[in-house]
Amino acid sequence: MRIAVLSDIHSNLAALEAVLASIGSVDAIWQLGDVVGYGPDPNAVVARLREAGAIGVRGNHDAAAVGDLAIEDFNADGRLAMEWTRANLSHEARAYLAALPEVLVPDGFDFTLAHGSPRDPIWEYMLTTWEARENLAAFETTYCLVGHTHVPLVLRQKRRMERLSAGPESRLELDGRRAFLNPGSVGQPRDGVPTASYMVLDTAAGHATWHRVQYDIEATQAAMRDAGLPPRLARRLSFGQ
Ligand code: ZN
Repeated sequence: MRIAVLSDIHSNLAALEAVLASIGSVDAIWQLGDVVGYGPDPNAVVARLREAGAIGVRGNHDAAAVGDLAIEDFNADGRLAMEWTRANLSHEARAYLAALPEVLVPDGFDFTLAHGSPRDPIWEYMLTTWEARENLAAFETTYCLVGHTHVPLVLRQKRRMERLSAGPESRLELDGRRAFLNPGSVGQPRDGVPTASYMVLDTAAGHATWHRVQYDIEATQAAMRDAGLPPRLARRLSFGQ
């Protein structure tokens, strides 16, 4: 099976459309949370994911958007964007986000999906081998897919743990060693590369590949300006930060 793994779409419809066009036909789409927040198109992004039959988990922004997390937990710009998201979310989009679980193991697969980490799915950032080791006992499958940092990354069990950056077109063999795989962010990359990031799992061939795709950043920035979202959140998209 070919499975596309998307994370941190953040209400960026132009980026999501570019990614969906680029992945072509896949057997499944898994998303790792932060469907909304920051960007200008929460309802259209949710509708597009539903149409594509995506399954997945909720992130901290999704939890805040439906009122399950306090808005005070965000920084100033994030808070303004979250107030806007709450005010503009449709009933359908709210119901979709409210129904997302925090952790998901798709039936018959050896992958656990969580936004931040398996032990603290809403908040923990997994960036170091220390965090990886601390989280090994928190899930039962061989592989764990996480987002939240907006940085494509692999943390894999060796004698200790190893940390591998997952640049464009990089590939990881799924060799049975336990590993955390982060696809990077579709809608707000933070690794210094502004293009949308995603990952494809090929379960028959036994590997994961990372991809980047250009999208119309200016269209998203213009929509953010029109919506009155914080200018800094729009500007950072140009720099992948
Ligand atoms: Zn995020």
